Amino acid sequence: MAFVSRLVCSTCGTEYDPSSNPLMCRRRDFGRLDIVYDYHRVRRFLSRKKLSGRENGIWRFAELLPAKKSFAVKLGEGGTRLLKAQRLAEKMKLTNLYLKDETRNPTGSFKDRAMAVGIAKAREIGVDTVVTASSGNAAASLAAYSAKAKLKCYAFVLASASAGKLAQLMLYGASVIKVRGVERGEDPTVKMMLKAVESEDWYPCPSFGPFNPYQVEGPKTISYEIAEQLEWKSPDWILVPTGSSCLLTGVWRGIKDLTELDWIQTSPRLVPVQPHGNSPLVKAIKSNLPFSMIKAEKHPKTIATGLSDPFPWDGDAGLEAVKQTRGTGVSVSDSEILAAVKDLAKNEGIFAEPSGAAALAGLKKLLDDGLIRKGESVVVLITGSGLKDAQTH
Ligand SMILES: *Cc1c(COP(=O)(O)O)cnc(C)c1O
Ligand SMILES: [Zn+2]
Repeated sequence: MAFVSRLVCSTCGTEYDPSSNPLMCRRRDFGRLDIVYDYHRVRRFLSRKKLSGRENGIWRFAELLPAKKSFAVKLGEGGTRLLKAQRLAEKMKLTNLYLKDETRNPTGSFKDRAMAVGIAKAREIGVDTVVTASSGNAAASLAAYSAKAKLKCYAFVLASASAGKLAQLMLYGASVIKVRGVERGEDPTVKMMLKAVESEDWYPCPSFGPFNPYQVEGPKTISYEIAEQLEWKSPDWILVPTGSSCLLTGVWRGIKDLTELDWIQTSPRLVPVQPHGNSPLVKAIKSNLPFSMIKAEKHPKTIATGLSDPFPWDGDAGLEAVKQTRGTGVSVSDSEILAAVKDLAKNEGIFAEPSGAAALAGLKKLLDDGLIRKGESVVVLITGSGLKDAQTH
């Protein structure tokens, strides 16, 4: 905690003292409480050199995380491989293509990075019950960390969640409440989670920022790891499969931290990839709309269930990430996503769920459009394991 100087609401600018452990803005304006670090202090305890002796995983970067490491519950999150994808690169006529293999996280998706931090914070605060709203992966992850931390976990999930993800939830011992699908752009899981937070005082821990500012910081570690794995040289591009935009926000924050600490000299350009059937953020990028004008997708329709949040909760930061890094947005069809799942498996031996492979489909498109050139280096985030959703291929 000592490394956080304050939290600032992204909607109204109200500042919060870190010692009060705020979760949401007291004005309930759906602002995210953005965490501001004391980099001066971070620099005194952390350097690129000091990293070399530390354990693998997200707590390697403890000074840049908002929960005390002593409260961490570890299942082996983070520290994933950055693979040089030789065969895919040849096929796509690229020279430097890397895949960040997040399927290797303990519950099979990058959400473990977020939930590990969310649960460490829950233990630090001293809560006994946590609650989430999710299309599956975030809930499955929260359930696993709650099990290990001996916390009660309630999960509101869409009835359409895959059998694999539901099985994880049940076995990790969460109380699962299946909720009907999205209607008129409203995600009923979020509504029910908020009701439970207000009436029961449970700790909210979904994987988007406005309801829990701490977990958002977990995915930052992806950027730290990529930078370290590429020997502190930034790739030209990072492609990010995007639903709520929390991952994109985290990746960008990681880059900002690295820049602030002077550990990298240039920023990669960030590209959110969304499915055609649910692409409110990409549409906003394409038509230069501000966040306040983004409307929820009324009827999200895609096989990439991890990318089906009708509203990009962290889209404000997501738009900023794209703008500041001179990135772009791209949307892909379900059949392009399925083709990417197959390409990934057949050429590189990685089995991803559709959401997990969507960014690769986005890369193909940007190469075809000539936006990414073949001499540039590209990192594609492969975010979730195919074993979770094995019937969708
Ligand atoms: C949640 C999820 C995403 C998207 O992350 P957001 O933070 O919602 O944008 C991508 N891939 C997988 C596998 C996911 O579970
Ligand atoms: Zn506010």
